Amino acid sequence: MITIHIQRFNSQNTPQYSSKSYQVPSGLTLLQALQYIKANSDTTLSFNAGCRSGICGVCSVRVNTREELACSYKIQDDDTISALEYHTVVRDLIVDKKTTQETLRKATAWLHQAQTVNITIADEKVTELQSDCILCNICYSACPVYAVNPKFLGPFALTRAYRYSADKRESDIKSTIDSIQDNGVWDCTLCGECTAVCPQGIDPKMDITMLRSTSSQFGYMDPNFQTMNFGF
Ligand code: SF4
Ligand code: SF4
Repeated sequence: MITIHIQRFNSQNTPQYSSKSYQVPSGLTLLQALQYIKANSDTTLSFNAGCRSGICGVCSVRVNTREELACSYKIQDDDTISALEYHTVVRDLIVDKKTTQETLRKATAWLHQAQTVNITIADEKVTELQSDCILCNICYSACPVYAVNPKFLGPFALTRAYRYSADKRESDIKSTIDSIQDNGVWDCTLCGECTAVCPQGIDPKMDITMLRSTSSQFGYMDPNFQTMNFGF
């Protein structure tokens, strides 16, 4: 047996946050370990699970401050599990992803026009035919910009914007580029955290770099660069 620690949250408790340690068999995935705990030692533990094969993106959590899909991660002794960053925690490891879905909806309003994309936020059904993104929100949780700017469009919205802007069938690239200037491409620090954690191998950092290049072609430039004083 090994020990894992889980950051618990219950809005009805005082304090609302607590840490609890559990004994689980070694060799399990994190999702199997959570299910083991629920079945054998603590029925109150709350977490989300879906396909159990790394496809649906529902079981995303943080392990020792790094984002992981619980169904794909093999637990280690002394691991600490917590909910995703920058999300409202509903209970224990369950977070509210509506805010990020709303950010995605705002950032991709132009996509309503596209035949290849169908976004219906009301029932949280988001389908995109051109992307491998599983909407796990892992990149959102890993992005340090959200600590200082909650309005940042974020890596998954920007990586979709790039796919759309790079689509040769698309005739109105400029409106896409226009829509990602505020709280968008120039707010990214290019730290690469989103790329490092994405379970689908998507590279938002590179996509954002390409969007900056395309933005420059349409006459935009880094607003931070504009405000620099070079002493001329
Ligand atoms: S870009 Fe990658 S990390 Fe971000 S939501 Fe999509 S699959 Fe998850
Ligand atoms: S590269 Fe940009 S979008 Fe990705 S995590 Fe860093 S700041 Fe966020």
